[in-house]
Order: sequence, then C-alpha cells, then structure tokens
Amino acid sequence: MPNLVLIGGGHSHAIALKLFGLNPIPGINLTLINDVEQTPYSGMLPGHVAGFYSYEQTHIDLSSLSKFAHAKLLIDRAIGLNLEQNQVICHHHSSISFDYLSIDIGSTPTTISVPGAKEYAIPAKPVPQFLVAWSKLLDIAKNNPEQSLKIAIVGGGAGGVELALNMYHRLGIEIGAANNYQINLIHRGNKLLAGHNNWISQRLEKILLKRGIKIYLQETVEEVLPDKIRCQSGLTLESDYTFWVTQAHAPDWLKKSGLATNSQGFILVKDTLQSVSHPHIFAAGDIATMVNYDRPKAGVFAVRQGKPLLKNWHRIIAGEPLKPYIPQKKYLALIGTGDKSAIASWGSIGWQSPLLWYLKDYIDRKFMNRFSNLNTLISNN
Ligand SMILES: Cc1cc2nc3c(=O)[nH]c(=O)nc-3n(C[C@H](O)[C@H](O)[C@H](O)COP(=O)(O)OP(=O)(O)OC[C@H]3O[C@@H](n4cnc5c(N)ncnc54)[C@H](O)[C@@H]3O)c2cc1C
Repeated sequence: MPNLVLIGGGHSHAIALKLFGLNPIPGINLTLINDVEQTPYSGMLPGHVAGFYSYEQTHIDLSSLSKFAHAKLLIDRAIGLNLEQNQVICHHHSSISFDYLSIDIGSTPTTISVPGAKEYAIPAKPVPQFLVAWSKLLDIAKNNPEQSLKIAIVGGGAGGVELALNMYHRLGIEIGAANNYQINLIHRGNKLLAGHNNWISQRLEKILLKRGIKIYLQETVEEVLPDKIRCQSGLTLESDYTFWVTQAHAPDWLKKSGLATNSQGFILVKDTLQSVSHPHIFAAGDIATMVNYDRPKAGVFAVRQGKPLLKNWHRIIAGEPLKPYIPQKKYLALIGTGDKSAIASWGSIGWQSPLLWYLKDYIDRKFMNRFSNLNTLISNN
C-alpha cells in the first residue's frame, strides 16, 4: 500500500482531506503530520483578535478531520527530509517513510536578520504563539487600565493593517479609554498594501489615522529592544509590544533538504503542484511558489489549490498523467476594518461598505462550516 504523507494541516491540505474523506481512495496509507491539533483559518484571524469570533470558530480541528479522512494524525514538527530514503524527520517521533509527500506548512514573517527581533518581537505566525501573546497583552491591559500601552506593528501589508485595526477595536472594548493606548504601524514601503490599487492604500491610511493609529512609511526597523524599536532613519518609537507581520519566509530545513527552492526558501512547483526537482513530492499554499505564476502568498490561493492537489494525488498513485492547475490572476480581497465593515479590492476597483463585512463573514463562515460537522459525519458512517 503506498504511503502518502502530508506535512502541515494548512488550508490546501484541510480542503484536500475533507474531499478525501468524502471520496476515500482505497489502498492508501494516509498520514498527516502537524505541530498543533487546531489549525487556524487566516480569513477569520483578525476577526478573532477583534473579539468577533471565538477560538473554536476560527480553528479547524485536525483530529476530527483526520478521522474523517481515515488518516493517521501525528502531532509533531517536521524538521527535515531525507530524500535518499524518502523519509520525513520529525522533532519527537522517529522518521516517517513515504512514497508520496505533500507539504502545506504555511510561512512565517522574516525576522532573523533584525537584531533583537527574535528575542523581543512577536511574529504573527506561528499563530498559536501569537494568540498566546495577544491574550497575555489583553489580560495585562484589562488589569491595568490606567497604565499607558504602546504597541508597534511592523509590516504594512494586509496582515499588519488588519491586525492594527482589529487590535484597536478590541483594546477599545477591553480598556475603554482610547487615550491610554497607542498603536504605531511601521512600514518599509512608501504605501500600505503595495499589491493593491492606490485607492485601497489611501482609504486604509485614512481609516487608520482617523482612529489615532500612527503610520510610519519608508521606515526600516533595524533594532528591537524590550521597550522600543529603532529605525534606520534614526526614528525611535517606544513599544511595550512589537508585533512582526513582515514578508513571508520559509523554514531553513526545506532549503537544506535538497528540494529545489527559490532564494527565499519556498518550494518551487510545476503547474501540477509537484516539486520541480522531486515529482513524487507536492507542495501547496504559502510554502509553494509556482514557477509559472507569480501570485501573492495569501490564504485564498492556498484554499483554491486544495482540490487540484487532491486530484493529482489520485492521479499519481493511479499512474495517470497529472493535470495542471492555473491560479486565477485577479482575486477578490476583502479587508476587514475592525468595525464590522470591510474594503473590497478587485484589480483596479475598490469599495468600502458594512455590507462587504457581511459578505466576508458569510464566505468565511461557509468555509469553516465545511469542517464543523465532521464528528456527526464520522458517527453516521
Ligand atoms: C494577521 C494575518 C492575517 C491574514 N489574513 C488573511 C486574509 O484575510 N486572507 C488571506 O487570503 N490571507 C490572509 N493572510 C495570509 C494567510 O495567513 C496565509 O496565506 C495562509 O495561512 C496560508 O495557508 P497555508 O495553507 O499555506 O498554511 P497555514 O494556514 O499557515 O497552515 C500551516 C499549518 O502547518 C503547520 N506547520 C507549520 N510548520 C510545520 C512543520 N514543520 N511541521 C508540521 N506542521 C507544521 C502549522 O502549525 C499550520 O497548522 C493573513 C496572514 C496574517 C499573518
């Protein structure tokens, strides 16, 4: 029986596992290795920070999902690959052998080169550690409402901006007096959300400023200290909590494994989502870079890759030719503004309305509903 091993329960694998469970392929040993049992859904993460959604509403239970897909779940962290022996090297368990491998482990913000960032900054990913830090911050803020609180968010992409707006909302609810806290957003580029049209950047700038969130553009953080950050320009900002939401980065072990990667360490894949160097290895989501298509690292692409990925697992195991997947060029981005309103970005078009929040909420809940009744489906089988 061929062993199909999946590393990472990210968005693509979650979709593929759900579909696998609905249409199991007999005669395959399926194993999922993930470092946590609950995997976060990125679309609702800022809403969870704002307090609009609970932890359960924003996390997929990989234990039920694996059971549903007849897969073995191993809670562990992959730390390397032995490609000569086709094995995944795990942090705690002994190595896992595979015939086919699929990798969907997401990405983390780049911090390594900035002195002090590793010690004092809180990266937005891995999400579990981020949520622990956020929850501690909230507790301290609630218990000390008189004390001033300075937060720095480094990175002015969609993630950084959404976090700033949603943190602002939550702090307003938890400690009320808006004057006691200050959020500063620091961005290296000359506009926020560089991948979107100018209207989107300007609109978000306006919203942030209206809420008293200060924006520092064209500033590169060169040092993080326990109570402040220093930028190359000489700008120094006080910061009790520095959140790091910069460009996506891949773990070093992938580069060392012998898989073909780009200069940032992302796995290079063909249109079939197979590694360009090792065709029995697939990759999807943030960790994969399609050589023929330049697309942003966003959950929306990871979700879309789930179904074609599953179909190509089927095909490779059946000895059939694999089919290419072409990612959409334009995509609808719905950016929550932390007040149950949202901004839609579609190519050169931008629009803001509370109605868009309801659309975003509907889409996100619909996605999560796919994973909400797994235990009932398992017991009915
Ligand atoms: C604050 C923030 C807000 C965002 N909001 C949006 C949004 O609204 N819309 C959008 O499209 N994108 C958004 N993104 C981007 C989005 O988070 C990613 O593009 C998306 O999560 C990628 O999904 P994925 O399937 O690649 O992996 P992930 O969803 O990151 O999942 C990877 C899984 O693998 C596990 N894992 C990681 N390493 C290992 C290992 N070595 N061994 C075993 N398991 C491992 C992780 O714990 C996790 O469970 C946001 C990002 C941030 C930081």
